[in-house]
Parts: sequence; C-alpha cells; structure tokens
Amino acid sequence: MAPSASAPPSSSPYDAELAIVGAGPVGLYAAYYAGFRDLSTIVLETLPLVGGQIATFYPNTEIYDVPGFPSVTGGELVARLYAQATTFAVDFRLGEEVTALARENGVLRLVTRPIAAPGSHPSDELSYRVGAVLVAAGIGSFSPQRIPDPAIAAFEGRGLRYFPPAPDEVRGKRVLVLGGSERAVDVAVTLADTAAAVTLVHRRDRLPVSETVRHRLDASPVHFLPFHELTALHGKDRVQAATLGDRRDGREQRLDVEHVVPCYGFHADSGTTGRFGARTEDGAILVDSRMASDQPGVWAAGDGATYPGKVRVLAADFGEACTAVNNIAAVLLPDANVFPGYSSHRKGAARRPR
Ligand SMILES: Cc1cc2nc3c(=O)[nH]c(=O)nc-3n(C[C@H](O)[C@H](O)[C@H](O)COP(=O)(O)OP(=O)(O)OC[C@H]3O[C@@H](n4cnc5c(N)ncnc54)[C@H](O)[C@@H]3O)c2cc1C
Repeated sequence: MAPSASAPPSSSPYDAELAIVGAGPVGLYAAYYAGFRDLSTIVLETLPLVGGQIATFYPNTEIYDVPGFPSVTGGELVARLYAQATTFAVDFRLGEEVTALARENGVLRLVTRPIAAPGSHPSDELSYRVGAVLVAAGIGSFSPQRIPDPAIAAFEGRGLRYFPPAPDEVRGKRVLVLGGSERAVDVAVTLADTAAAVTLVHRRDRLPVSETVRHRLDASPVHFLPFHELTALHGKDRVQAATLGDRRDGREQRLDVEHVVPCYGFHADSGTTGRFGARTEDGAILVDSRMASDQPGVWAAGDGATYPGKVRVLAADFGEACTAVNNIAAVLLPDANVFPGYSSHRKGAARRPR
C-alpha cells in the first residue's frame, strides 16, 4: 500500500489501524470520528464517488429528518459529510471493492479489487493489513446497468459514463441522457444548467416520474425525445456523435454529442456483508450495543448492520458510526477511553506521537 498522510505509527503492524468499508453517509461520518480519535484510517468504496445511496439515488431530493437541518438536499448533506471527514487525513480509496477478509497472525488482511480498471484481473488484487474493519456497506455494492452492445461499451470512459459528470465538466458541451426514471430527468435537468444542449432520450413517451419532476423537466431547456433509443456511438478517440433509432418506424437520426450518460438503474450486490465471517440476519451483520459483530475486529454500522429495535434512518445511522468508532478506538489504542471527550473542548486535531 502506498504511504498516506494518515499512516499509522512506524512501529505498527498495520497499513492502517482502521479500514472502513463503504463511503456512504455512515462511512463518511465514521471517517470523521476515526480522524477525531486519531486512528489511521482507509475508506474503501466500490463506486467512483462518495455518498452511497444518497449520492446515487437522490442527490437533489430534499431530506427533512437529519438533525439540525429542517431541510437539506442529498448532495449538500454528502458534501458536508465529506468536508467534515476530510478535516483529518483520511485515505479515501474509491473504485475499490472489498472482496474478502483473511486473518494472519492476529492481523486482519482485507482484500480488494479495483473496479475502475476495465477488464481487471484477479492479479490486480490489493490487500491491506488492518487492526479493525468497520463495515458501512449499506445495501451492498451497486453497479450501473451497462449497455451490453460491445461497440457502444467500448466508449466507456471516453465520453460514455454511467455516473454523471460534474456540471463544470460539461460546460459548453452537448450531452445525451438515456432513460426515463426520476434519476435520468434529474441528471438531464442538472447538467442543462451548464451544458450547451441536453437531450433526454426515452423508449416511451410517458415518463414514470412525479408531477414535480415532470414540471422541472418542462421548465428546463432539456430537449425530450420520446420513442427513441441509442443504436450506435461514433468518434475516433472519444464520443463525437450518437445514432438514435425511432422505435415506431425504425428511422434513424444522428446527433452530435460529447457526453452520453445512460441512466438505466443499478444492480445491488448484497453479498458484501457475508464476506467478513460474521453472523448476519436478513443480509445485515448482527452487532451488539458497541456495534461489534461476533468476529473479533469486525464491526458494522448503518444499513448493513442490525440488532433488535434497529431503525433504518440516517439519524440513527450516524449514532451507530460514532458508537462503533469510539469502541474501536478503545480496543486499538493503548489507554484510550470509549468516551472521546467533547469536540468543543478540543481545538483542531491533537495527534498521537508517531
Ligand atoms: C430514495 C431513497 C430515499 C431515502 N430517503 C431517506 C430520508 O429521507 N431519510 C433517511 O434517514 N434515510 C433515507 N433513505 C435511507 C438512507 O439513504 C440510508 O439509510 C443510508 O444511505 C444508509 O447509509 P449507509 O452508509 O449505511 O449505506 P449506503 O448509503 O448504502 O452506502 C454504502 C456504501 O458502501 C459501498 N459498498 C458496499 N459494499 C462494498 C464493498 N464490498 N467494498 C467497497 N464498498 C462497498 C457502496 O458502494 C455504498 O457506497 C433513503 C433511501 C433511498 C434509496
């Protein structure tokens, strides 16, 4: 593992004292607490972005039940969680899926698979020696439904992407968004703020979206093209144009575009929680009141953890992350208490001598 700003003390047998699996809201808040407790920490996340379900499914939706926020959009909440987590030197490894956990001489070894590398091979596996693992893997790894046509798939990373580009990346460019879901409309309308033109293509004429979302689309400059589907992409190094077929009569039209964003939904692989040897119930790791599983060194919090009386909402999830990390600190760090002390009594990060 490459050295990181949050490297453990040189005498440590670990690459990082704590590994957090998942950079959803729970993983992000746990990362903040891990920094606050001065644990050297890596966060491993399958997706190329942080924020889990919030960032993937409802970044522009208002959330009303997060403490202290009468209303906050998903995107803003994730941005604030990330800003708080990165107050400390936490090592985020995006695009890396945790596939297995092994034990070697009392040290945990987490095995990961890089997702970003197209056609990645088992020999591409990475591994990390860690003192504890906090599973914050939510409903599991999700991956986008990809277009199977190999000629189209060949453009992935070269203009074709399943996670939308940032609005700044499409400034002055032409964008094609595919799909009829609320997410597809949301992506199209959001990118239309900066793009030169956005076309939303759907196979049918009816969009299965709420009235509010439909109004947002109608009030935006997005060009909605019903009854069409993508049949080909063209370009030398990158996407330059797309062919769209009319499903009613088979006629084709060519559209010049630089970015193509299919929004055809996600597959969830709920297998993650079963990879740590811990007892599970309904796909979630069973934990005690400290958020510890029945496997030494394996802890869980958030949607991927369960116990009697569990409430699956963010407000409760954040408390679980706090409880888990403080109990992990008390196990891993000599002389550390479970109680972290009040953050208001502390200025900045008082780090342990290395
Ligand atoms: C449409 C919708 C609306 C919602 N609205 C609300 C609301 O208003 N209020 C509320 O409190 N809750 C709401 N929720 C629920 C809330 O989003 C979840 O409870 C919350 O996201 C759980 O956070 P998490 O971090 O535990 O899991 P997730 O958000 O699922 O994040 C887990 C992360 O772990 C990653 N991961 C999984 N497996 C691996 C692996 N093997 N290796 C590496 N990374 C991995 C995933 O890619 C993901 O990024 C809503 C959920 C949805 C879908």
